[in-house]
Amino acid sequence: MKFNTKLIHGNLKIDETGATNTPLHLSNAFSHSSAEELECIMKGTSMGYAYTRISNPTVTSFERRIASVEGGLAATAAASGMNAIYLAIMNIVESGDEIIASSGLFGGTYTLIKNLKSYGINVKFLDNLDKISLENAIMKNTKIVFAETLGNPKLDVLDIEDVSKVCIEYNVIFIVDSTITTPYLIKPIENGADIVIHSTSKYINGTSNSIGGIIVDGGSIKYKEDKYKNFKEYSRKFGKMAYTAKLRNTVGKDIGASLSPFNAFLNLTGIETLSLRMRRHCINTLAVAAFLSNNEKVTSVNYPSLPSSKYYNLTKKYYKNGASGVLTFRLGSKENAFRFINNLKMILNITNIGDTKTLIIHPASTICASNTEREKEKMGVFDDLLRLSVGIEDIDDIIEDIESALQFIN
Ligand SMILES: *Cc1c(COP(=O)(O)O)cnc(C)c1O
Repeated sequence: MKFNTKLIHGNLKIDETGATNTPLHLSNAFSHSSAEELECIMKGTSMGYAYTRISNPTVTSFERRIASVEGGLAATAAASGMNAIYLAIMNIVESGDEIIASSGLFGGTYTLIKNLKSYGINVKFLDNLDKISLENAIMKNTKIVFAETLGNPKLDVLDIEDVSKVCIEYNVIFIVDSTITTPYLIKPIENGADIVIHSTSKYINGTSNSIGGIIVDGGSIKYKEDKYKNFKEYSRKFGKMAYTAKLRNTVGKDIGASLSPFNAFLNLTGIETLSLRMRRHCINTLAVAAFLSNNEKVTSVNYPSLPSSKYYNLTKKYYKNGASGVLTFRLGSKENAFRFINNLKMILNITNIGDTKTLIIHPASTICASNTEREKEKMGVFDDLLRLSVGIEDIDDIIEDIESALQFIN
């Protein structure tokens, strides 16, 4: 099956009713014909459903669809993107371990990782995830390298194959957040990531009707090594499925922030049109980037597909289908940035990305408000910077709205 077909048919099971959409199982528990049957399900020795915090048929369908399109062995859904990141990390580390992360991460993720210090986990943020910086930073106790394919909102492009090589050599788990890029633009497992994360709240759902996250397991063999003692039992029993087996039996179950079946149902509808939407997001965003670049009121435009981007060559290598729908631009002052937002008519001022609608935000005063000035700078967030998530409306209407709002700034 090819990619577009997988979005619709990947691991699709039509049940005995013949329903073409995965049925929505709004039940938090499932009955069983014998005590033995439930015993086996709870032990994990036979397939089946017991309780929705652990698994639910609608959620399972969504997990299998994502595993199929990402080329992963398995996927585990979570209540939000943040929850997916938290679980993905906590499934690996113990106190005394170390995480290396890009300093250009999404603000929420940056803070999450920084806060792990209070649990005895050492954290190093690197400005560049190149071979030399990584080799200098990696220690015996380094268990995770965490990065985003395209940083939100820094829009730095991860050289995923380079980082993967270092992580293989030093036996470190490589976790990649591919929220902005989606499997339409890149499949990180094919490029050497061990674990892929999505906030499905964004492009996968596509229309902003629900919060969710997912953790895709690439089936790494690294967990077999002595370094990952806490995986020993799971590696022995479950082989390449060790990561997911541990996740579902430990932190996933303990923290209990499972995805609602209703949200899984909405995500299953959303993902069917992922390619169509992403293609249009990319085309529209490139057009907006070109328009902004040619306007003298705009101080600078940051979009990886622009030849002016310092990541242009990496973008050409990894993102042949486009560089997604997010760009940032600067207007010289915070006052100008606010005035621009306040004069938009169609574009919505919203703390979100990846919607069919065009959205704008001033990151410094909102999503990055709790980060220090130094952290903001490293995230590529400045007082005069705006982040635009370009939707799939007619490009003329998007540009008209931007053009008229620009007239109000100095
Ligand atoms: C939005 C986002 C998250 C957090 O996801 P939620 O679903 O809002 O919890 C994590 N990473 C990136 C890159 C995001 O854009």
